[in-house]
Amino acid sequence: MIKYSLSQENPQRQYIQFQAEFPHDGTEQFAVQLPSWRPGRYELGNFAKNIRNFKVTDEKGKPIPFSKNTKDSWKVEATGYSVIHVNYNYYSAELNGGSTFLNEEMMYVNPVNCFLYRPGFEEVDGFSVELNLPNQYILASPLAEKTKKAFVARNVHELMDSPFMASASLDHHSFNVEKTTFHIWVNGKHSLDLNKIEADFTPFCNAQIRDFNGFPQDDYLFMFHFLAQQSYHGVEHEKCTVITLGPAEKLLTSAFYEELLGVSSHELYHTWNVKALRPKDMLPYDYKRENYSELGYVYEGVTTYMGDWYLLNSGVFNFQTYAKHLGSYLNRHFQNQGRFNYSVAESSFDTWLDGYLAGAPGRKTSIYTEGCLIALISDLMILTATNGQANLASAMLKLWNDFGAKGGGYSSNDYFNCLESVSNLSFSEIRAQLVYGISDFRPFLDDALEPVGMKLTESPNSNKFTSNVGIKLGEMPSGEFKIIDIAEGSPADTSGIHIGDTITAINETTELTSDFLTAIDYEGKVELKVNHLGNITLCTIVCSAITFFDNVQLEQLANRSESQLNLFNQWSGDK
Ligand SMILES: [Zn+2]
Repeated sequence: MIKYSLSQENPQRQYIQFQAEFPHDGTEQFAVQLPSWRPGRYELGNFAKNIRNFKVTDEKGKPIPFSKNTKDSWKVEATGYSVIHVNYNYYSAELNGGSTFLNEEMMYVNPVNCFLYRPGFEEVDGFSVELNLPNQYILASPLAEKTKKAFVARNVHELMDSPFMASASLDHHSFNVEKTTFHIWVNGKHSLDLNKIEADFTPFCNAQIRDFNGFPQDDYLFMFHFLAQQSYHGVEHEKCTVITLGPAEKLLTSAFYEELLGVSSHELYHTWNVKALRPKDMLPYDYKRENYSELGYVYEGVTTYMGDWYLLNSGVFNFQTYAKHLGSYLNRHFQNQGRFNYSVAESSFDTWLDGYLAGAPGRKTSIYTEGCLIALISDLMILTATNGQANLASAMLKLWNDFGAKGGGYSSNDYFNCLESVSNLSFSEIRAQLVYGISDFRPFLDDALEPVGMKLTESPNSNKFTSNVGIKLGEMPSGEFKIIDIAEGSPADTSGIHIGDTITAINETTELTSDFLTAIDYEGKVELKVNHLGNITLCTIVCSAITFFDNVQLEQLANRSESQLNLFNQWSGDK
């Protein structure tokens, strides 16, 4: 058993003190590793940049020589030692769903950021963790026993997958669905009624558990940080999720509350899809290096689609609310010129390069966006082919039974075999054109939506400047507007301006506001003063009659046949 003790000597400095005690067999071989990334975010994390005062000693505190092997692993000259102590401080000043944070009010730890482990012993090394915290602190952890500030993890994977938070002011509420107790833990000031959360969570928890024939855990924790600042982030784990949302003052607005429901349903679905049911490429996780996979369209795409679909199907969202959320994915897809340049499978492999950044303009697609739309198309195709007898959830149940429930990992072939086996359809075209190809999604969406009595409609972008000039702008803290996208083929595209330039004046007006941009008459031309790498240039853009960056919405058909209505009711849960 590896023993860890964590303490907070000066919490305002935001360093957590780690003391680790590793048993050793006296041989020369001893190395410790800090994870290079964290599951849920498929890019390198470089967590070792937060470590200082790294020391290795024997039981009596006598230093043992060590050296660094790589950016996040250490080699110790361990001959003759039966116990090796490793002490270090970890800088904990980042607060999101997957980070580690310390201040005078809380300690919040994602062990995958900051716990050392012995590479090669991931399955066999157990851990005991003791937390030296103020008496009044309460601990929320998927591993801790009630009232104790300590826990045990059976191996490296369980330790790394078990975040915890401790504070004097955590709110707790629990409820049961089927055989599982769901815990809501809240850190931070909030005005939410936790009984309302229970009422709104129960239907989607129930529906997901129904479709997977049970839940893999006896207890599950939704751990929320409500922040005063802007935040929207959730991270999945086998036994819990950590979700940061803010600003907390907007919690009671419907838009914010819908986000809370959306991210919670999404993260719960991950309990199966990616935690207990995982591509072979990532089973087991290798924390030392990149774990490449082309299957992001399943582990994030299907999760993104199903998370919101369960809210619709269980009656938490009505169709209008669902369509609004799907609309944001439709717009991200149709307004991204990268959809004709890089497939979602290739983009999945490359999350390790730039999956969480805008990246080079028009280069790539997204496992969330394109993955969600492919899942929608697949779901409706199965529903139509089986006349409502099966759907994507049936295929995911088969994938779960055949792989996840047996502890195995799946491949791309396995996933498509499940889609085909529940529907008797061929998915080879979807796979070739949409997953591994860069074909236009529109005909596939139109064909899938029509039998279920739905369609897509376009309307001009509500931002008139974007719509008429073909430029997307982002407002910077300085009040200036930065060009974040230019529509190919628009008047702006050939006017000599660049993505990344800032606009300092329009038609000689320097006081730029969103209202001003909306009020301009776009019948003729606009004159922009543009800052490109410090050089100010003037450029005139003649607006065209064509609109750019149109919005795309999901709508129900006005006149539906009985068959369309039946399938729609099956799909939406309006039975
Ligand atoms: Zn996700």
